[in-house]
Amino acid sequence: MDLTFSKDEVEFRDELREWLAENSPGEEPRGDEDAIFAFRTGWQRSLYDSGWAAVHWPQEYGGRDATLMESAIFFEEMGRAGAPLPANVLGLLLAGPTIMAWGTPEQKDRYLTPILSAEEIWCQGFSEPEAGSDLAAVKTRAVRDGDDWVVTGQKVWTSGAQFSKWCMLVARTDPEASKHKGLSYFLMDMEQEAVQVRPLVQITGEAEFNELFIEEARIPHENMLGEEGNGWIVALTTLMNERSGLGFFLQVRLRQLLDKLVAEAVANGSIDDPVIGQSLGDMLERTETLRLTAYRGLSTITKYGQPGPEGSLTKWLWSETNQMMTQLAVDIVGPQALHKDNPWAYELLRARGNSIEGGTTEILKNIIAERVMGLPRK
Ligand SMILES: Cc1cc2nc3c(=O)[nH]c(=O)nc-3n(C[C@H](O)[C@H](O)[C@H](O)COP(=O)(O)OP(=O)(O)OC[C@H]3O[C@@H](n4cnc5c(N)ncnc54)[C@H](O)[C@@H]3O)c2cc1C
Repeated sequence: MDLTFSKDEVEFRDELREWLAENSPGEEPRGDEDAIFAFRTGWQRSLYDSGWAAVHWPQEYGGRDATLMESAIFFEEMGRAGAPLPANVLGLLLAGPTIMAWGTPEQKDRYLTPILSAEEIWCQGFSEPEAGSDLAAVKTRAVRDGDDWVVTGQKVWTSGAQFSKWCMLVARTDPEASKHKGLSYFLMDMEQEAVQVRPLVQITGEAEFNELFIEEARIPHENMLGEEGNGWIVALTTLMNERSGLGFFLQVRLRQLLDKLVAEAVANGSIDDPVIGQSLGDMLERTETLRLTAYRGLSTITKYGQPGPEGSLTKWLWSETNQMMTQLAVDIVGPQALHKDNPWAYELLRARGNSIEGGTTEILKNIIAERVMGLPRK
């Protein structure tokens, strides 16, 4: 892949840099989830108003028809500017692209613009207590009743459900069909009594994700995405976007974290310790490898029109590096890095989930062994 920017790409980058310099979001609040959500919503609205919310989306839905290279530049520049995540990250990176790939014209018209403007927030209702890595084992049941589907079941780990209007829901519509064929994909309205959201507090003290209890929720048939029984294939589109799109964004944030860590090491003199210096060098090598692998993933999308299994490699390398880096931060910053009010304590604790969310490292290794390296399944 040629990483030299063309004249148009340089112009795109400079325009974005200028906008970011004039529209700094300021410092994100800490500790208060409602305040963080409000801050990220404000940030996404301001991106949307200036046409920067999702540059790769079609212009008719508020995007800029950006090329993949311009999208990469977009993420790099956001990282460089230390910009926060937008409020509707799952809508922008997962729901939007899945609706674009599988939605009817009516569904695209109805759902895409409010995703971009953060008017309607989305969550991902895939995992269940007994279906995580083995997603095709979902038990949540959807039964046809006239023009509606009646849905009953339980979801778990549903990030951001407490703020969401819509849920990407995978449910079993045909219990007689084989495991992968009996599933359908729905766009479920969260604002109904039959959907109860119970926050789960995690190791950081935040309740980032939730349990969903669904008791005879109604979903109109027109909210099915893709054909009945095709839910597995539609869900794969969501998962592929999770591993590649999010991976690109996260590698940029990883580099930001490394720069902060180097600044800490310079400030407290530990940079002169050869072991620390070497560990920071290792981190730089890993972040750069990750950046180039993320670009390679983009080039696959350019060639084949969809993310390839490389997305699994990026996600694995990112989670491992983030965990190693936050551990190294404790060595560099010292015991105060473990104090609950220290930002490094948050980074250290939050990183533990990285090797689980969006596909566990073990599952990603299986995918890489089988689909990238072509090794036998057993
Ligand atoms: C921070 C965070 C946010 C999340 N947000 C969401 C969300 O918004 N929506 C959502 O639907 N889900 C979400 N998840 C759930 C996540 O996708 C699942 O946790 C993940 O898929 C693993 O499923 P599980 O927890 O059921 O573990 P299991 O699948 O039960 O796995 C348990 C262990 O067994 C290993 N294992 C399982 N199968 C194999 C195999 N075939 N080979 C080797 N090892 C194996 C796994 O690697 C793991 O170590 C989130 C998780 C986290 C941590």
